[in-house]
Amino acid sequence: MSKFAELGLEENLLKAIEDMGFTTPSDVQEKAIPVLLEKDTDMVSLAQTGTGKTAAFGFPMLQKIDIGSRTTQGLILSPTRELCLQITNEIKNYGKYCKGLNVVAVYGGASISDQARDIKKGAQIIVATPGRMKDMIGRRMIDISKIEYCVLDEADEMLNMGFYEDITEILSYSPDDKSTWLFSATMPREVSNIAKKFMYDPVEITVGGKNMGAENVSHEYYLVNARDRYNALKRLADANPSIFSVIFCRTKRDTQKVAELLIEDGYSAAALHGDLSQNQRDLVMKSFRNRQIQMLVATDVAARGIDVDDITHVINYQLSDEIETYTHRSGRTGRAGKTGISIVIASKSESRKIHAIEKIIQKKFILKEVPSGMEICEVQLFHLANKIKQTEINHDIDAYLPNINEVLEEFSKEELIKKVFSVEFTRFYNYYKKAKDLNVSAGDMSEGSKDTVRYFINIGGKDDFDWMSLKDFLKEMLHLDQDDLYKVDVKESFSFFNTDTKHQELVMDFFKDFELEGRRVSVEISKDTGRGKRGGRDRDRGGSRGGFKSRGGDRRGGGDRRDNKRSSGSGGDRRDNRRSSGSGDDRRGGGSGDDRRGVGRSDGGRSDRAGSDRGRGDSGNSGFKGRSRRSSDKPAGSGTGGRRRRD
Ligand code: ADP
Ligand code: MG
Repeated sequence: MSKFAELGLEENLLKAIEDMGFTTPSDVQEKAIPVLLEKDTDMVSLAQTGTGKTAAFGFPMLQKIDIGSRTTQGLILSPTRELCLQITNEIKNYGKYCKGLNVVAVYGGASISDQARDIKKGAQIIVATPGRMKDMIGRRMIDISKIEYCVLDEADEMLNMGFYEDITEILSYSPDDKSTWLFSATMPREVSNIAKKFMYDPVEITVGGKNMGAENVSHEYYLVNARDRYNALKRLADANPSIFSVIFCRTKRDTQKVAELLIEDGYSAAALHGDLSQNQRDLVMKSFRNRQIQMLVATDVAARGIDVDDITHVINYQLSDEIETYTHRSGRTGRAGKTGISIVIASKSESRKIHAIEKIIQKKFILKEVPSGMEICEVQLFHLANKIKQTEINHDIDAYLPNINEVLEEFSKEELIKKVFSVEFTRFYNYYKKAKDLNVSAGDMSEGSKDTVRYFINIGGKDDFDWMSLKDFLKEMLHLDQDDLYKVDVKESFSFFNTDTKHQELVMDFFKDFELEGRRVSVEISKDTGRGKRGGRDRDRGGSRGGFKSRGGDRRGGGDRRDNKRSSGSGGDRRDNRRSSGSGDDRRGGGSGDDRRGVGRSDGGRSDRAGSDRGRGDSGNSGFKGRSRRSSDKPAGSGTGGRRRRD
């Protein structure tokens, strides 16, 4: 008897399992499947990404529903369209021998009437994202009053995305006596709250932190000044010429910006975030899967469904404010038995989060040094040598060889090698020969440094701020960068925040007489430096104000970048005002000449510049052929600077 048969699964499912090549149940499957088959119970199951949760609820659901009936009996809620489609496909696959099974995916961004029609045909199982689901229930296109099983998949992620209210409303249309199965990679307070609220005496299952790939992932971090973040990223890419990576940023704006910089600098990069149309996102994912894009810069939400194997590096360009998110991010690598590296580029204000993450992942981070310019040159030289060695000769050049030989006949083999390498290498060398050390020593970053000032400001929750929006607001007003403001702590009628001492004058000057909607905003220096309030902002973020109302960082503005000139007293929608981009980033991008000005990539084999068309995903297919194009004809510093805004 197969191991899956021992769990109690029936023949038609076992046949599908065999087709899929599953031989042994994963931990979570072994624990969940027998329980769910045996009794009608609620369940809370805690297991990391990649542990096979879909099958853990999918098989029992398929076995328990009545396929002869056309009534909707099972509902699976999942956070994103990508996951929704992924789960739908998996379930269809599991149920391929269940004759008459109809599984329908319900998600935003696609025709609602098509989905309604599919459901009308009789869907025993619906897999849905909460937003669209709520919508369709509201329009009476879906009836879930008879469901027996409801799965909340990736519950932590759904709550992060602000779906709490949608979920509550959806469940209010479902019968009380259904079974609810909650699956989550992490168990923040919001998830246990939801478990308490919607479940009765659930069976609890925890799979000991074992992501199928987790053992294969090493965790590294680099300590740099915030302003050197991008340069450090470039060095990591240059030091790993075969890198195939996902780079995570906090916001859509940063995601777009980093991708643009990389593209300008000649890397094959692209952005993936919620401001792109579905079609654009599909194109980006397609070229990433094809390896035409080496560096995919993504927001957490957009990257949620990425199931690409062979990702060599996950790079946390910025850590998320939710440290739990790190687990999801690093789970993108080390899949399918491969090894992977999860990297954090940490600035002063982030280094302390590293320790918090170590507790969650129960693994130590290795502190690494950002490679020096010369180390990178060496790597690149050998990469080039190996590439030459492995290159297949293109006989289309045969016809030209006599003339080429003539041009080069005076050189010996040694001289030729030197020249070939110089062609490719000099740009790198010139770029990196004076490159400075980007590393910041750990000692410089001690928490105890007195280099920080804490401010009191008389605006807060009652003015509709949460810590994130207040930080954005201050950042813009003061033209400071993301990392210049920290420990933002929002109370009901006032708040606190910190900057380095060097910004004290700027802050105090700016708020000397500043009004917001006709009210005087005052800032005072607080005696408390904010030390020992660790985690304050992480906690705030999770609360219903920060977390749910704003629907997570990913959905926040970004479209209104240009009208950011309003400051005091502007009556209009303050939200626009807060979310617009300050010029801080532009300054950072344009000004700090040296490292920004790219060396194009010298390893011509990859798609290099072709990425610049694709980055925006709007170029149709024509740009996708660029595999053999090279960027070496792109002179250093020729970046299309005009594209950057100068406002
Ligand atoms: P999770 O939802 O926990 O992140 P998935 O359900 O998406 O994980 O499963 C991850 C991958 O592992 C999928 O490609 C799935 O087909 C595969 N998988 C699931 N169970 C098994 C198993 N028992 N043996 C081999 N592969 C499995
Ligand atoms: Mg899953």
